[in-house]
Amino acid sequence: MSQQATEQVYGHYVDGEWIEGSGGDSFESENPATGETLATFQRGTDDDVDAALEAAHEAFDEWRSLSYIDRAEYLWDIYHELRERHEELGEIVTKECGKEISEGKADVTEAWHMVEWAAGNARHPHGDVVPSEVPEKDAYMRRKPRGVVGCITPWNFPVAIPFWHMAIALVEGNVVVWKPAEQTPRCGQIIAEMMDEAGVPEGVFNMVQGFGDAGAAIVEDDRVDTVLFTGSAEVGHEIGGKVGGEPGKLAACEMGGKNGIVITEHADMEIAVHAAVMSSFKTTGQRCVSSERLIVHEDVYDEFKTEFVELAERITVGDPLEAETFMGPVIEADHVEKIRKHNELARQEGAKVLVDRFELEDSEIPDEHADGTATADDGERNASDANGHWVGPFVYEIEYDPDLRCLKEECFGPHVALIEYSGDIERAVEIHNDTPYGLAGAIISEEYRQINYFRDRADLGLAYANLPCIGAEVQLPFGGVKKSGNGYPSAREAIEAVTERTAWTMNNSREIE
Ligand code: NAD
Repeated sequence: MSQQATEQVYGHYVDGEWIEGSGGDSFESENPATGETLATFQRGTDDDVDAALEAAHEAFDEWRSLSYIDRAEYLWDIYHELRERHEELGEIVTKECGKEISEGKADVTEAWHMVEWAAGNARHPHGDVVPSEVPEKDAYMRRKPRGVVGCITPWNFPVAIPFWHMAIALVEGNVVVWKPAEQTPRCGQIIAEMMDEAGVPEGVFNMVQGFGDAGAAIVEDDRVDTVLFTGSAEVGHEIGGKVGGEPGKLAACEMGGKNGIVITEHADMEIAVHAAVMSSFKTTGQRCVSSERLIVHEDVYDEFKTEFVELAERITVGDPLEAETFMGPVIEADHVEKIRKHNELARQEGAKVLVDRFELEDSEIPDEHADGTATADDGERNASDANGHWVGPFVYEIEYDPDLRCLKEECFGPHVALIEYSGDIERAVEIHNDTPYGLAGAIISEEYRQINYFRDRADLGLAYANLPCIGAEVQLPFGGVKKSGNGYPSAREAIEAVTERTAWTMNNSREIE
């Protein structure tokens, strides 16, 4: 059932109940398009995390004893609920994180795709029969759940990513303590309500709202067997460092990127421009797979630049609930400042700016959001950011230099560099690979040798040819290499992070060899 908020402050979900936080502090969820407060939530403390971990620990034995199929049944209820409430939930996603409405709904669609995959996988083989050297022996590789899984998720896919983590962890027999992102607690609240309504047994799923300190309390606790983290490289590497030193504990971290698209002299220009616009500006550049580098061959550079710049000048920024909007606001006031700094860094490093719509004209900001309609209880916000967090595209060209920070650091906004290259595909891939990251990238070319070279040599977890670089189907592993991930992407490969393997050998004869 849905929670009755205490004095309009929503609490945590622990051991099958809604509980008040122990600390007394609260925080608000804000609509980034309007500055309006959506709801207020209790801020999780170490004690709240402790209660959630204790409940999970206690629930593990009974939950692991159920069959895969029985555990999956709870997930099928949630699958149907996500489908039935698609429109409503999509709108909530859009209101809480500012993505335009088709993307808000797509977030929910992706969530049910993952739930479907995980629940359906309950009926698929989960181990291997291995030939033994001795005919009387049966040898198997069997899987067992690891135990308590701590899930820590970002704000930009506030429904899909939690289900990437939790659906697989639960079906495999683990119990979960989840901390949603502090920017999207309303989505967290709704997911916890769904788990409750589906009748997931007490303690099997627990949610603590809050900030990084609550996440850190989960990571550092000895009762946690696996940490599943998706978010920034900075936090992911901190978590990896903490967990790496603890025997028997594992952290699977999916992080950011400085993604690039290579556009060769054999590119179809229509595909190239379309792919670049989608990859750079969808979700206002705030996808982990968003492209911030366009590496373009000299033979097609001028043509590409003219068309790309023309479209970047015309992109509609506006009310994310309106179907014709291409870019909504960015998530929060601090993020506007972060993007500003990245734009300034590019300028300092010699960028020639081609499109500068960072400071939007008043006329570009939706009217209904420019009238100071923010709720009153937000004393810390000033008038300008109370109306939403608006930025437009920033496009620059720059000569490639391996020392440029602006070509290496993730901005996570509508900020994109055009880099002209000459020579062959080897040179393009060399430039492409010159970042510490390796998440997502694309090649646009009609020449299969160039495509194959990119596929084999680009440092990437997710690689595309003649497509925008904006997402992947859930049955494919979704994760990066280098600084972007540590090798446990979603779907089948994520099972590795939430299970242990046992090599099981059984003697079927009365003799021992
Ligand atoms: P973030 O790292 O700031 O926060 C992610 C989560 O970690 C939040 O729940 C936050 O409260 C928590 N957290 C913060 N500090 C912590 C700490 N010290 N210990 C434990 N938990 C802590 O990231 P964000 O701003 O929410 O998301 C944006 C980032 O996520 C971008 O870098 C983006 O590229 C990345 N991302 C990656 C993927 C992927 O699949 N690779 C998907 C989406 C987003």
